[in-house]
Amino acid sequence: VSDLQAVLRDVPDFPKPGIVFKDITPMLADPRLFGRVVNAMAAPFRGQHISKVVGVESRGFLLGAPIALALEAGFVPARKPGKLPYKRIVERYSLEYGADGVEMHEDAILKDERVLVVDDVLATGGTADATARLIGQLGGHIVGYSFLITLDFLDGAKRLGPDKVTSVIRY
Ligand code: 5GP
Repeated sequence: VSDLQAVLRDVPDFPKPGIVFKDITPMLADPRLFGRVVNAMAAPFRGQHISKVVGVESRGFLLGAPIALALEAGFVPARKPGKLPYKRIVERYSLEYGADGVEMHEDAILKDERVLVVDDVLATGGTADATARLIGQLGGHIVGYSFLITLDFLDGAKRLGPDKVTSVIRY
């Protein structure tokens, strides 16, 4: 974990003044660390019969796709409004730095499917909670949430249900 922490770069005042952004790109550029991260994020959900991994735009795609393959599950993108081509459902939320929405294709999750939600960082939980509501609209069952980083001081896990949240690194 310490060599992983060493490559997660803190960028002050991005994307807005007062926000310290965790930059994961140096981790992605190192195949050994990237592979370890994917394994560590998938591990708690092995054998849990996950059939879909939902990755949240855009860093959730980078982690969610290899985690889906590691779990032999399908991958579903949850995207910012206006990006998905087919029939969509939408949920709105407020973010640590602004307000936004998230969309999913209406046929992306089947009723009672077992779903894992993946993203790089859990901050306030607004994004993951909106993604969970999309999955709920389609009748999916959320088995858990896997994050690379949890910012504990923002209490996001409380919002999602702490027993469902796993994370490799916590600050
Ligand atoms: P939340 O909705 O939990 O407040 O914010 C989480 C979302 O914002 C995630 O999609 C995550 O990628 C992004 N995010 C918030 N803070 C950071 C950060 O410090 N670093 C990175 N990489 N993403 C962040």
